[in-house]
Order: sequence, then C-alpha cells, then structure tokens
Amino acid sequence: MFEDKLSNLIPVTWIKQYHFCPRIIYYLGVLGCNEKLTESMIEGKEFHLTEEGRAKRRKTVAGRRREDVKALWSRLAVASTKIGLYGIIDEVSETNNGLIIVESKFMKAPKKPYLSHIYQAAAYAMLAEEALGKIARKIAIKYIRDNKTFEIPLTEDLKKHVLWTVSRIKSIINNEKIPRGNFKMCKNCGFTKICLGV
Ligand code: SF4
Repeated sequence: MFEDKLSNLIPVTWIKQYHFCPRIIYYLGVLGCNEKLTESMIEGKEFHLTEEGRAKRRKTVAGRRREDVKALWSRLAVASTKIGLYGIIDEVSETNNGLIIVESKFMKAPKKPYLSHIYQAAAYAMLAEEALGKIARKIAIKYIRDNKTFEIPLTEDLKKHVLWTVSRIKSIINNEKIPRGNFKMCKNCGFTKICLGV
C-alpha cells in the first residue's frame, strides 16, 4: 500500500520544469519522454558527484563564512506522501537559526534567481522539514559558474505556491491534455525536437 503511494509521487525537479514551461510536464508525465541532455547538464551532473565529498567537510553554509553549521546532510534522499514529492537535496545545513537548504545550479548567475529555481528549492525545504523534523528558515541557490549564492527566506507563501504547483502538475498528468507552452523559453529548452520539430 505504502509503495503504491510512493509510486504516485512527483520528482521535485518537475516543480522547476513546470515553472520553466508547463508543457514539459506533459512530455515527461504523460508521454514519458526524456529530456535531451545538454553539455552543461552533463557537466552539472559531474559537478554534483565531486561536490558531495567537499560538502561533507564544510563548516559553513554553501562554503560562505556567515553562518556556522551544526550538522550537514549532503545528497539527502527525501520523499513525502503528504506533499506528493520526492527528490535528492544537494545540501542541508542546520544552523542556530534553523535549516538552510542549498540548491546548486551549474550555470552563470542571473541578476536574480529564477523563480523555477526558487520553487524547486522551497519544495526541497518542505521535504527536509518533514524528513528531519526541524524548521527550515532559508533556501540558498548557488550558481556555480560565478560562485554566487542568493539566500531567500522560506515563507508560507512560497510553500503554498509549491503545493499549488504540485496540484497543477497532477492535473496535467491526470487530464492528459497538453498545456499552453511558455514560448519565450524555447531557445533554452531540451524538448524543442518533440515540441516544435526542430
Ligand atoms: S519547446 Fe518551448 S513550448 Fe515546447 S516545451 Fe520547450 S519551452 Fe515549452
């Protein structure tokens, strides 16, 4: 019974995909397609593997000096039937002010973090709270190519938006209806071949 419930969970990365373009959820969740891996995605996967060892030796959040770490989890596997999500969190630090969730992105830093990355990290924070039984206060999004980290408070509004996103994703999958695309993102999308035939 519990295994049945787990098989209905959605990967947290789909939260990011939904906010990039909802149509991707249709390709992943209804048609069962795989995203074409770009060079930077492959570099990112390799980075995550080498970063795992480094993170375990770290004494500060995301390698920054401002907050001391009491405990640290790297590549933490989490799942919640309550939230409806599962995933692996890059890094969770416990500080005197609560948990801080670090999500690393192998790309150049934008002027401000992408909403898709914020919602993805907020989803991980909610899963970390449930898995570790501790309050999460902040999410940190680290853009590796520029070594720049943005810290964002984990608000109730952010959490509500994560839950809303989960319900939208479920609705796309259950209704099997292709949603409107976010066409301004097409030039950076790994689904152009199936979606636009290019
Ligand atoms: S190609 Fe464009 S419309 Fe199609 S899934 Fe990608 S971003 Fe969305």
